[in-house]
Amino acid sequence: MALSFNMAAPMCGNFFSTDPTETKEIVHLLTQNGLCPRCVLRFLGVGETAVFRSSTEELTQKVISLAGGQEDIFSSLPCPACLGILQVYLENEFINRIAETVQSNDHEFKTFICSLTTPVCSLLREHAFLLLLREKFKALYDYKVVEDIASVKDVWKWKSGPILAGALNAPFENKSKFDIILNFTYEKSDKECSFLSYHSPEVFRKRKKQQKNYGDTYTRTNVTKVLSDMTDGYFQRNYSIPKSSEENICKCDEIRCVHDAVYVAGRYNKYSRTLSQTPWMLDGGRKSQSSVEEEICGPLKQKFRFTEQRFSSSGREDVDVRMLGKGRPFVVEMDDPHRVQFTAQDLLEIQKEINKSADVKVRDLQIVDKIDVNKLKEGEIEKTKTYFALCWSKEPLSQEQLTKLNDVKDLVIYQKTPIRVLHRRPLATRERVVYSMAAEKVDDLHFNLSLSTQAGTYIKEFVHGDFGRTTPNLGTLMEVECDILELDVQSVELDWPPSLGDS
Ligand SMILES: [Zn+2]
Repeated sequence: MALSFNMAAPMCGNFFSTDPTETKEIVHLLTQNGLCPRCVLRFLGVGETAVFRSSTEELTQKVISLAGGQEDIFSSLPCPACLGILQVYLENEFINRIAETVQSNDHEFKTFICSLTTPVCSLLREHAFLLLLREKFKALYDYKVVEDIASVKDVWKWKSGPILAGALNAPFENKSKFDIILNFTYEKSDKECSFLSYHSPEVFRKRKKQQKNYGDTYTRTNVTKVLSDMTDGYFQRNYSIPKSSEENICKCDEIRCVHDAVYVAGRYNKYSRTLSQTPWMLDGGRKSQSSVEEEICGPLKQKFRFTEQRFSSSGREDVDVRMLGKGRPFVVEMDDPHRVQFTAQDLLEIQKEINKSADVKVRDLQIVDKIDVNKLKEGEIEKTKTYFALCWSKEPLSQEQLTKLNDVKDLVIYQKTPIRVLHRRPLATRERVVYSMAAEKVDDLHFNLSLSTQAGTYIKEFVHGDFGRTTPNLGTLMEVECDILELDVQSVELDWPPSLGDS
């Protein structure tokens, strides 16, 4: 039996030591400490994926042959190095539990990855075994660090990944948008780490202060840092590996799956003067029936079945302002969508569904990459916006008086933060440019005004002057008191998302 293992190259793997006698002594030291076959191979220096994919029976025989054929070297108790992760958590029962959880979550995915969190105390265990080996086999282990040893997580994935892939009928990859999260915990982990607080109280005290609620005092980051600052002598005097026992096994108390966010972009029109862009909440209660965000996200949620959404747009309009023309670019970030595969035709159907809304219509609805989302915020200041306003004047105006406004080009105006937004924005003076205007008389006291301005211009304040806080304003230009009755946004100049030519 032993001979065939030596003949099959992947079964061997490469050891740190090339001396069979030394390897034999290392195996004995590790098995005396209760390590499982895979952990013995890890500390021997084996890093080959194929070796760890072998069955537990094969690997057990392999290590027994390395130990000189002694059959009873393995403990039946949980392994103190992997806390059972490379033992019971490699068995079919656990793989089936994962597969069942994934299936009951009902996500759509093409590939998957697994993210394992192991108990923090496993850092101490690995460190302790490495020191033990360094003590006994100084030349071989003196410069070896934890990174030189195949990690428990990797070994688990090498072995379980392909099996899980079979069960889920999807390939296991190094990168995927769909993540199966396995959280392993060990109830005595904190207690085991507690001596670190005596060594470096400042590291862990700071951590406690930051956290309002009960949180993790010992994290992988701070424990790793403290271990790297600690002398081997201090560690060995203050830490001993817990004795083998049935309880020395971690639990997998969380199996969770999550799909990366998916982003849908488009342009919206708003035809109502009573609909806010986002849900309008005041003192915990709703102030409006619906919102642009809800009109768009409702149908999206039904199809993508996401959990949370974040709606953003290139600027925004007030509740009483309509959004006309080709619409305002927007994007919806959808967290953990359970459905992700949509064709252009599917998106057109969703768009039709949204467009059943009386007040909101969308176009160019499409799935976009996360990286492109930044384009929405790019050039928010530089871009030109055009508006259409119905205005009132205190005194009758002739068309000739109004026509003078057509001559205004690139007018620089100064706007102090409007009174109506002072409660949420700091007091400042903004410089903005009104590129052009065109006015048309409606009747003696009313006229229509088209404006093209720099993005971020407060249009209402430019028309009525905001008690002199915007200068010059329409009133000072025309030498008559003006007010604004209705405002529409005609265009938001942004070449994103790409037009689909669907409307
Ligand atoms: Zn182990």
